[in-house]
Amino acid sequence: MTQTDTLGPRPALPWIRLDGPEPFVEGRLCRACGARTAATHLACPACGARDSIETYRAPTTGKLHAYSIVRRSYPGVPVPFISAIVDLDDGLTLKGNLINVAAEPEALPVGMPVRMVFGDALGRTDKDGASYVAFFFEPSA
Ligand SMILES: [Zn+2]
Repeated sequence: MTQTDTLGPRPALPWIRLDGPEPFVEGRLCRACGARTAATHLACPACGARDSIETYRAPTTGKLHAYSIVRRSYPGVPVPFISAIVDLDDGLTLKGNLINVAAEPEALPVGMPVRMVFGDALGRTDKDGASYVAFFFEPSA
């Protein structure tokens, strides 16, 4: 392992993959029932099947399902920000911050088309100084 490997950016969440030409979210599809999740489970959270989960590259487009405008947070976390639930085009649902749009309800119609973008996770670093890569959503129309 080279020094670059040890100090390179790390995924902010386990299902963010950084080992390809560009970051992506690795989804999990249950072959038994068709449920899609991001987090790793010992069995399908929908049907309970074991050994039925396959991974795939999640799409980067979807629609705003719901959101909260966060106006108070921990010290050092800029507010307001928009915590969003997004339904990706394949049915996978993810939570992430919605950026590049006003934090006002008038600018956030449910069903608004959004796309996933990757970027630095708000300047956070681990104990070795390595940064994190997170995904965000932004309006796509
Ligand atoms: Zn299942």
